Amino acid sequence: MSGDEPALELADLVMHFGAVRAVDGVSLSIRKGQVTALVGESGSGKSTVGRCIVRLLEPTSGTVRVGGTDITKLSRRQLRPHRKDVSIVFQDPAGSLDPRMLVGDVIGEPLRLQGDASRRDVQARVDRELSRVGLRSEVARRYSHELSGGQRQRVSIARALISDPTLLVADEPTSALDVSVQASVLNLLADLQRDIGFACLFITHDLSAVEYLADEIAVMYLGQLIEKGSRERIFSRPTHPYTQALLAAAPIADPPRQRARQPVLLGDDLPSALNPPTGCRFHTRCPLAFDRCVTEVPPLLEIEDGTVACHLVRPDGTGPDIRTTDHS
Ligand code: SF4
Ligand code: MG
Repeated sequence: MSGDEPALELADLVMHFGAVRAVDGVSLSIRKGQVTALVGESGSGKSTVGRCIVRLLEPTSGTVRVGGTDITKLSRRQLRPHRKDVSIVFQDPAGSLDPRMLVGDVIGEPLRLQGDASRRDVQARVDRELSRVGLRSEVARRYSHELSGGQRQRVSIARALISDPTLLVADEPTSALDVSVQASVLNLLADLQRDIGFACLFITHDLSAVEYLADEIAVMYLGQLIEKGSRERIFSRPTHPYTQALLAAAPIADPPRQRARQPVLLGDDLPSALNPPTGCRFHTRCPLAFDRCVTEVPPLLEIEDGTVACHLVRPDGTGPDIRTTDHS
């Protein structure tokens, strides 16, 4: 990786599964060492974006640049030296760890597959990773099913970080865990990110989980990005009606602000990506929708520190507030 290339740059990423338009033209970049939270309801396409970035999926079109290299154009062999640059942590650690392997082998496997580390090196790096994620070295000689859910997710994180990636994709890393351990795993990720400095795409449906972790927030709705901006701006002045609705529904650990939020219910379920609504895809649920929203796709407008796609937002970034607008 050279110069000031972003850690990750997606340009017009499209992933269709037959007629299902799971991801429909997503552009996004993450600077080195920064955390971008990708938020949206389940079914919005955010996990599909994550899987395209680690090449578990071959995108229909668009580019995925990691440290300046478009990895979508590489053969398996050409891809090998870039594998170590990006890792992923999945939602369910039980499903992503091989139950027949000792934990130490699970964590060391990415290094062994790259083939340039001795057994001794791998052993030393496994010990380093175990200690970084707060597990004792004896854990290396156990099987993952002998561990708790929180310990298993620590093992997944150790495995993801052992090759010193420049980018970590964390796909709902705490949502399959007991509520009692979610905060400790989230704090661990935040501490590791600050200490090591990898860039991170943090995928979640829960906006409150990103308040202390993300530098930037990108909001997806039915396969498209509808708003992005700094965490400060999104939390204090969410501009898109959908972002406002998500925030109003999020339990935020700040009582005065919590009281100020009026719950705005989104009502219906997310429409199907098989046949997304015309115009603004949010128009079937938006309390502010008007005629143009049904026929015209709102362009992605550049505002103070990001972008937003809504017909009601003015070029200076001001727009409606669904919490104060009378939409009865
Ligand atoms: Fe709502 Fe229309 Fe804005 Fe879409 S473009 S978010 S439907 S007001
Ligand atoms: Mg998902």
